[in-house]
Amino acid sequence: ADADLRTELTDGYHLVVDALRMNDIDTIYGVVGIPITDLARLAQARGIRYIGFRHESNAGHAAAAAGFLTKKPGICLTVSAPGFLNGLVALANATTNCFPMVQISGSSERHLVDLRQGDYEEMDQLAAAQPFCKAAYRVSRVEDIGRGIARALRTAVSGRPGGVYLDIPAAVLGSVMDAEAGARTLSRLVDPAPRQFPGPEAVDRAVELLAGAERPLLVLGKGAAYAQADDRVREFVESTGIPFVPMSMAKGLLPDDHPQSAATARSLALKKADVVMLVGARLNWLLNHGQAPQWNPGARFIHVDIEAREMDSNQPVAAPLVGDIESVLEAIAERAKPGRITAPAAWRAELGARSAQNVAKMAERLKADPHPMQFMGALKAVRDVVREHPETYIVNEGANALDIARNVIDMHVPRHRLDSGTWGVMGIGMGYAIAAAVESGGAPVVAVEGDSAFGFSGMELETICRYGLPVVTVVMNNGGVYRGDDVNPLGDAPSPTTLMSAARHDRMIEAFGGRGYRATTPAEVTAALTEALASGGPALIDCVIDPSAGTESGHIAHLNPKGITGGN
Ligand code: ADP
Ligand code: MG
Repeated sequence: ADADLRTELTDGYHLVVDALRMNDIDTIYGVVGIPITDLARLAQARGIRYIGFRHESNAGHAAAAAGFLTKKPGICLTVSAPGFLNGLVALANATTNCFPMVQISGSSERHLVDLRQGDYEEMDQLAAAQPFCKAAYRVSRVEDIGRGIARALRTAVSGRPGGVYLDIPAAVLGSVMDAEAGARTLSRLVDPAPRQFPGPEAVDRAVELLAGAERPLLVLGKGAAYAQADDRVREFVESTGIPFVPMSMAKGLLPDDHPQSAATARSLALKKADVVMLVGARLNWLLNHGQAPQWNPGARFIHVDIEAREMDSNQPVAAPLVGDIESVLEAIAERAKPGRITAPAAWRAELGARSAQNVAKMAERLKADPHPMQFMGALKAVRDVVREHPETYIVNEGANALDIARNVIDMHVPRHRLDSGTWGVMGIGMGYAIAAAVESGGAPVVAVEGDSAFGFSGMELETICRYGLPVVTVVMNNGGVYRGDDVNPLGDAPSPTTLMSAARHDRMIEAFGGRGYRATTPAEVTAALTEALASGGPALIDCVIDPSAGTESGHIAHLNPKGITGGN
């Protein structure tokens, strides 16, 4: 009779897992503890892949990256209060980047929290999450679990994707109900991210503008990469001949060596373009807000974005195209006769000439002194090795490590570059790298990290080793934030930007059974990376870089306010 009773009952744990599985969620990134440990165990027992991290921010960053890579919400699971808050950094970052993600956190007893009675890990998590994500929901009754999960998943992935918080109090997880009735509370989402077509007038307006342009330019952003409309994008670019500039995470959507890429003539392209079509890219700080002198003050903008509110946020948009990229490009292809939109040859030639000049200049700079090793020399070595493995995912963060690697390492495959993104944030490295390895089913990942940036998530080397993931972390070790040669004028303590230049990051991974390498010349970087990729397992290469190499804040030093000290 006992056995009969058990098969007829379900509980909150089971309903969460069943609801996730019913909606094709196959992976959870998390850190366990009260009250969600058994939830993780049950998910794993029911065939959901569970990846356990050492810190919730990193689990959250992994979930966010998984969302970007798969166009399905990545799931991050955390405990209450502090674990929840750690995850919130990633949830906010995902929302800023428009990556679909759901953070599910267990929470304390409502009646104790609401009267501030001082429960274990007491916190009003729903209220705390609200300002940092696209939406926050709480499930207060076991029979609402299916609805809560459906709502969270749809909100994350529909319209402009973003982060969603789902609060599940401990008591709800432990609530028991009749199994059949429980099953009826669950549902599978129909068309979670519906297509959105622009109106015909909007399409004609944009086509008209493009057809009349003398110096048209496309800016492809990570929204275009996310949309997985790769064939459409290529067809549009190649049938019109319009030059394009990829934002960093759109690199590889079309290969960086595509003849229409104006990446190597970016400044000229921005300065001179008269009609600019933004495709899944925002005109934010990363594009100087569309302002002169970086941009032609007379430029007119066409903006393709799923979010209507994004239009006019920085510059007036002459032709808004609100919809998903696939549908918008399909509509343009239908309404513009072949040959109507073209890119004048003089413009293409002008950009081509500038590109050739810049490529030659870069080749000169890449002949950096081998010793002491410079960023350029080390990163050229990385570039040459990964060129042989175009399926490699590149994760990239740091100041100089980011700026230089972005320009030096070419991408050839869509959605294979993950970096600091819209916030220019540090700390995404190991989380993004783990997600890339997990979601790709074992493609090689090379994480190019500044030594400072690496420190934010370095403990996840243990996670990488525990799961045996093919992640090679390449640390650009110049012994400091920005640079390693800053001096404290009082001489009594390290300067604020100083890190230990003698640090042996390679020994960190050896502690967990991974392969550690130390490289002092580009030739040693080449040898180490070649061997590490061939091994197919976790590795770390500590690249000893000249401490005087690098510039403060990399390419964005102008963002430092200047007071009476005159800045740096
Ligand atoms: P980048 O930093 O690469 O320039 P952004 O993150 O600024 O890119 O911009 C991405 C944009 O893409 C966001 O405004 C987002 O609303 C939009 N977007 C995301 N997915 C889609 C989609 N499927 N169709 C159209 N726009 C999208
Ligand atoms: Mg550094």
